Amino acid sequence: MVLAELGNKITGALRSMANNTFVDEAVLDNCLKDIATALLQADINIKLVKQLRDNVKRAVQIEDMASGLNKRKVIEKAVFSELCSMLDPDTEPYELKKGRSNVVMFVGLQGNGKTTTCTKYAYANKRKGYRPAMICADTFRAGAFDQLKQNCTKAGIPFYGSYTETDPAAIAAAGVQRFREERYDLIIVDTSGRHKQEDALFEEMREIEEAVKPDCIVFVIDGSVGQAAYDQALAFKQTVPVGAVIVTKLDGHAKGGGALSAVAATDSPIIYIGTGEHIDEFEQFHTKSFVSRLLGLGDWTGFMDKITDVIPEDQQPELLEKLQGGVFTMRILYEQYANIMKMGPMGQIMSMIPGFGQDLIPKGAEQASQERMKHFMTMMDSMTDQELDAQDIKIFQEDGRLERIAQGSGRSMQEVAVLISEHKRMGQLWGKMKGLKMPGKGGGMSS
Ligand code: GDP
Repeated sequence: MVLAELGNKITGALRSMANNTFVDEAVLDNCLKDIATALLQADINIKLVKQLRDNVKRAVQIEDMASGLNKRKVIEKAVFSELCSMLDPDTEPYELKKGRSNVVMFVGLQGNGKTTTCTKYAYANKRKGYRPAMICADTFRAGAFDQLKQNCTKAGIPFYGSYTETDPAAIAAAGVQRFREERYDLIIVDTSGRHKQEDALFEEMREIEEAVKPDCIVFVIDGSVGQAAYDQALAFKQTVPVGAVIVTKLDGHAKGGGALSAVAATDSPIIYIGTGEHIDEFEQFHTKSFVSRLLGLGDWTGFMDKITDVIPEDQQPELLEKLQGGVFTMRILYEQYANIMKMGPMGQIMSMIPGFGQDLIPKGAEQASQERMKHFMTMMDSMTDQELDAQDIKIFQEDGRLERIAQGSGRSMQEVAVLISEHKRMGQLWGKMKGLKMPGKGGGMSS
């Protein structure tokens, strides 16, 4: 995503402070100017950029800073925390509740990815144990119901709509009533999105809202909408009580910044981002993790979300225990590789791991990484139980072991040695995860 460029520019500005022997007001001003330019180029709303600049200056108070303090670190921390507050409205998103019908209504302009996102959202929550159902309340666009039907059929999600009824509020109300009676616990209402912010669209949206009284309204916005995003988001918020934002298409050439400014306009948190057309290409959004990734600091939370997504819930306590115990055996590495293989595009996963910036896994290298992982797994298939469960890597120094594993797997001894050093490196990373809590358990919109 192009946001990586923004991250690089911000880190570049912060790093360039190191070229100065003393960090004074002028150096700070220069650094903030570069950061502001980068944010504006990424289409972040101008008012927000100014606010960030003023707030960092206020927080840092460079002239009054005690001489022993590491000024660069203080500035870095202030920039990090201001970027977080720009994206964090301080309001919690609606948490889905088990045992009742949660009604979630989706709004946004046509083409921004609303229908796709409804399906992704339904599917993500289905995997968390909810029973979702979808309603097409779009009678404006011919083919809207067919599109929703097709998406739902692929994802195995029940749907409701009409080819003859012309009042979207009536369809929405009837659908919600039916799915409530059938005890679906997540009822998703997809509404129509016109090209422009027409009055008729807004009136219709208000009528649907009145008819279904949703627990939450999600505003969907395309990541490539530029400076116009702020006003667009504001117009929706002024019409219906938007409670959450989803930014789509952050996988392409979208600058992303405009859509991120929708947080401030709607005073609502981003709960997910869309990173591709496929139903799986959908990530929970956590502000701190996002800013960490943006600045190349890695993101344990996102990584853990992915892990918890693919590991069945009953196995999660066991994994957590292993993590906290810090025992990292070859067998755990094997299990994790197997999980990672299930997770999807490698680059997406690896960029979440601290230490692996986007640059480390260039696009073409994703496949090579997967190949490498498969080879590692073949080598581990040739290990004995004793080797897989060994607490001490020294076991591999014993005579003949490397050779036997190499022969058994059809790989070279050198490759086995690489696997062993990879295990050591992953073990060290693993050590850093000790004490982390599993995020995302029990479902919910943001968890
Ligand atoms: P709607 O008119 O707002 O309901 O938009 P649609 O759901 O029909 O999506 C419009 C187009 O955007 C479709 O071609 C989708 O496949 C595509 N799309 C939606 N979300 C994403 C995303 O996160 N990434 C990419 N690359 N395409 C997306």
